[in-house]
Amino acid sequence: MRILWIGYGQAGGKITNTLMGMEKKLRDAIAINTEVADLAGLNKINIDKRIIIGRYKQKGRGVGADIELGAELAQKSLSPMMDKIDKLDRILDPEAFWIVAGMAGGTGGGGAYVLANELKSIYDKPVYGLGVLPSTTGMPLEKEVLYLSNALKSLESWRKYFDNVLLVHNEQYEIKEQTRESVRKMYERINKDVAKRLTLLLTAGEASHPPQEVFSTSEIKATLGKDGDISTIGYRCERIKLKRRFWRKGIEPDAKRLEDIVKQSISEETLTFPSNVKGSKAAALVPYGRPKHLFAHAIMAGKAYLEQEMKIGEVRYGDYPDRASRELGVLTLVSGIADFSRLERMRKRIKEVT
Ligand code: GDP
Repeated sequence: MRILWIGYGQAGGKITNTLMGMEKKLRDAIAINTEVADLAGLNKINIDKRIIIGRYKQKGRGVGADIELGAELAQKSLSPMMDKIDKLDRILDPEAFWIVAGMAGGTGGGGAYVLANELKSIYDKPVYGLGVLPSTTGMPLEKEVLYLSNALKSLESWRKYFDNVLLVHNEQYEIKEQTRESVRKMYERINKDVAKRLTLLLTAGEASHPPQEVFSTSEIKATLGKDGDISTIGYRCERIKLKRRFWRKGIEPDAKRLEDIVKQSISEETLTFPSNVKGSKAAALVPYGRPKHLFAHAIMAGKAYLEQEMKIGEVRYGDYPDRASRELGVLTLVSGIADFSRLERMRKRIKEVT
């Protein structure tokens, strides 16, 4: 699927940069920031595609975590952003725009929806958002409250202007028993995982080996919809042990294994945003692996299970065969989720400590 990615703010820029480093097929990206230093490290995004905004007012030093200021600077900087986007739109003719940002940050949380609104008023193409919710574990109370309320406020605005908002909650990636991982390393791990999931989802329709069922761009668009719904991506995979020669150990996955992986792909801990997926509006399923491991009847049985669990009439699907894959994995995009208890918990926490 041809996407023009827009990395907005620090988190948005870094995730977009990781995406561009992972897969050329994901086409092109620009990065927007109020802070000069944050743009400098984005080595997979050409210098002429990095846009600094609000320079006159902020002198290139960012907006702190002020989402109102982020929105104001975006409004004032629409023309340089739109100039660049317009040029790339003519070259690339993307099927959608996808703006990536941290929802707690001032630049991205406050600015992304302002740009989404402008894009929607000019182009007749979907504008999707990818919003990162902060992990606040161990943060001083004041900062925690600011981040949580910023994220909730941003999300409210985002839902009005984006066709769909894919959520990634950093907390999902915390490793409880391991305390030695630095925040920077954790972000790198999250960014890689998110990039991998998006790459799988968006390149599935371009597999070089012929699939049993093609997963087309229209399946993704139909699953995401246009109503400002919230989506989440589940992914479960395991490394395969190939049985190359008879004396080598190795257990190749069978149909039962694949069916189990399909079922696990919607369990709460594998989702980018945790939610009970029952009652969601739509879903799409993409099994990925060596052609011989993509057992059609196991996919159908797993799909029927998802339909029953989510109470969705028809889960869209298409397989992604890759003859060189060392994994057997299943990705499930769930959209229009109905369970927002995690956001409720964030609201409660703000009340509790203020
Ligand atoms: P902005 O530049 O003002 O938009 O703000 P940031 O993007 O720096 O921060 C917003 C939030 O995004 C932070 O509170 C973090 O929770 C999160 N964040 C920052 N950098 C990363 C990153 O590289 N990856 C992920 N997953 N989250 C990040």
